[in-house]
Amino acid sequence: MSYEITHWIGGRESAGTGSTQPILNPATGEEVGTLHLGDAATVDEAVRAGAAAQRDWARVSLAKRTQILYRMRQLMLEHTDEIAAAITREHGKTLGDAKGEIARGLETLEFATSITQDLKGGFSENVSSGVDAHTMRQPLGVVAGITPFNFPAMVPFWMHPIAIATGNAFLLKPSERDPSASNIVARLYQEAGLPDGVFQVVHGGKETVDALCTHDGIAAVSFVGSTPIAKHVHATATAAGKRVQALGGANNHAVVMPDANIAFAAGQIASGAFGSAGERCMAVPVAVTVGDAHEPFLEAIRAEAEKLVVGPGDSPETDMPPVITAEARDRVIRMTDEAEQAGATVLVDGRSLVVEGYENGNFVGPTVITDLDRTHPTYTDEVFGPLLVVMHVPNFDEALELVNSSPFGNGTAIFTGSGHYARRYQEEVQVGMIGVNVPIPTPVGYYSFGGWKDSLFGEHHAHGPEAVGFYTKQKAITTRWPHQDEHLESSMSFPTHD
Ligand code: NAD
Repeated sequence: MSYEITHWIGGRESAGTGSTQPILNPATGEEVGTLHLGDAATVDEAVRAGAAAQRDWARVSLAKRTQILYRMRQLMLEHTDEIAAAITREHGKTLGDAKGEIARGLETLEFATSITQDLKGGFSENVSSGVDAHTMRQPLGVVAGITPFNFPAMVPFWMHPIAIATGNAFLLKPSERDPSASNIVARLYQEAGLPDGVFQVVHGGKETVDALCTHDGIAAVSFVGSTPIAKHVHATATAAGKRVQALGGANNHAVVMPDANIAFAAGQIASGAFGSAGERCMAVPVAVTVGDAHEPFLEAIRAEAEKLVVGPGDSPETDMPPVITAEARDRVIRMTDEAEQAGATVLVDGRSLVVEGYENGNFVGPTVITDLDRTHPTYTDEVFGPLLVVMHVPNFDEALELVNSSPFGNGTAIFTGSGHYARRYQEEVQVGMIGVNVPIPTPVGYYSFGGWKDSLFGEHHAHGPEAVGFYTKQKAITTRWPHQDEHLESSMSFPTHD
């Protein structure tokens, strides 16, 4: 099988004039397709098509917009298998995991079908004598989304349904590692009746991203990816006068209290650490054991890690798939080596794993490390692979201090049987999304998703109500209708209310 993925501009495929790069299957190492990369000219063509389409789209009734979104939801359900297969082929994750991310992405589409409620303005009668006030929210124009490889369907869905429902044209720049899902979504939007140009896809890397961040015709940029690129996008696009939300990397900690159900906590943390080979922004790469929880937790997590079946994402037996690239695999191995050289204990060692029949795949086994110093990069940095570091502290206060000392603040969890410590944790931890006995506390689509500190740059979280605010701007209107014969005194003073 070999295919070509081109841009989707103005409702049709367009190869553009940029270069190409291979699309690889992480389970086999094989080249499965070719991707056309964009450049400044491709971005300009898409922005012009988007601007022309957006002028009419902003005037389409809320009823019509909602009907299109409902049709889109139905088409997504009918094509879930096709999209999941493309994700597994290019990303590597299991088919079940790929279907799960599509379902979680659809939560935002479902939220967007209620845009009739969210775009209601306020109205106040007689704010002054004979004067009324009301507000309304209007779209920004053409907005862009730049997304990471690890959720090729869900993360773009955090953005485009709400951007489109609120009357914008949306320009998606997905990851160059797994681009196919975005083109299928573009085709389905067209089939659902969305006017051409309202949803477009431009592929590429840094050149395309930088063109999006600086193009005059783009009003806002939503970014999700690693912290260094989030900072770059935030700085570049805000300097160009755009509204920006840039979600960055993570190093999420799960605290295990001595009063927790340790077997349950270990199972949940194993799922958070090794599900999708640890390539989730809400993965759990650090467990913090408190007091007497340490030894039983080590025993339980070792058992959980050792029972996982590692293999290709399209095999029903597979629990843990390959990582995205050979470089990502080598990074996990190197960071384990460095921790071991610094005196850490490697409790479960995935470094030498080979999957029979898939010798060229990017496989590395689940790895568990403990006895590591809190300043070591294998603990402090984002590994983004199936590597769990277990840190040990004597009490709750030191656990809280350790979690709060991380520069990241995306997600965290506490496993405990104590309401007292659960409540203190959610009140005092410096993190945006918190789970109590829940390892991956990803908010549902009708709440918003976002971290603190180096995990988010900008004021708005993604999807849910905050996205409605991000993709619209408010007008406040003050109205007076004096009768043509009415005599009203004018004054040079600043108006007060009577
Ligand atoms: P990445 O930062 O390498 O890439 C993200 C996007 O930026 C891609 O579209 C890519 O093409 C583009 N890009 C890459 N290098 C660039 C450069 N030098 N200049 C401009 N653009 C560039 O991230 P990734 O490896 O695709 O995804 C994994 C990262 O994303 C992890 O750090 C993970 O934590 C993070 N992530 C965060 C969230 C969140 O909600 N906070 C969600 C998913 C993933």
